[in-house]
Amino acid sequence: MNKKGHVLNAILLALGLGVILTVDPRSFEPTADSAFLLAQKIGQLSLPVVLGALFPDVDTAFGKHRKTLHNLPVLAIFLAFPLVFGNLQFVWIGVATHYVLDMVGSKRGIALFYPLSPQEYDLPTGVATSSKHADAVTVVVTVAELGVLAGVHYYLFSLDVSLADAAASFTAVL
Ligand SMILES: [Zn+2]
Repeated sequence: MNKKGHVLNAILLALGLGVILTVDPRSFEPTADSAFLLAQKIGQLSLPVVLGALFPDVDTAFGKHRKTLHNLPVLAIFLAFPLVFGNLQFVWIGVATHYVLDMVGSKRGIALFYPLSPQEYDLPTGVATSSKHADAVTVVVTVAELGVLAGVHYYLFSLDVSLADAAASFTAVL
């Protein structure tokens, strides 16, 4: 996917995730408070998610494209960074959605296990990044991502926990 596709994906994902995390369709009441919480959540998510979504393609200039910054170890660094240093929260969401869009929405895959393996993984659903349908595919992929996230959030477990809280409760269990 090109830069435009990744920005479109990140903006729509931040908007949708903001709604999912603050609006429970089973108990939602439109009030000034709920509107404020929604705007606050979207504001909190949008910039870090967009920045994260732009980051992996830096490897077009440094390293091997779709390998050096398109792998799970890089995502793990972005997940761990807020826990260790207390900043860059939510940037990992942008990195993760970049990977999903490259794997699901475009023809060439990404080397998930680089540098352990140069093998690129891909789903057969993608279109060429130059295709005139690329934006439509980006929107479809984003809606599918939001569908999965909404399903998890409403029916499995709340996604609205900070990574630090999640790590703390995880260590408490251990
Ligand atoms: Zn990419």
